Amino acid sequence: MLHFSCDLCGRQLGDRRFVVKLEVYPAFDPEEFDEEDLQADHLQEISELIEEMELTGDQEIEDCETKQLKFDLCSECRRRYLKDPLGREAMARLNFSEN
Ligand SMILES: [Zn+2]
Repeated sequence: MLHFSCDLCGRQLGDRRFVVKLEVYPAFDPEEFDEEDLQADHLQEISELIEEMELTGDQEIEDCETKQLKFDLCSECRRRYLKDPLGREAMARLNFSEN
């Protein structure tokens, strides 16, 4: 028999297990980001985007593939997760303490 534990609090999970499935993928085709785009009307926008990418390294282009994540949660952590699925509260706290 498989035993699961909550990915947030580490608690052993019985039958009341909740699964979070996340899929993060580009809503554009990374392959199509080529010279043709540079000829288009939104030249300025694109070149700004490229500039930005050059600043952050080529990571962005390479890191475009679909990411699938899966987490097991207890009912309590599920409730907490749903309140703030993107971790905005934690992010805000982090930014605050850095400044
Ligand atoms: Zn939990």
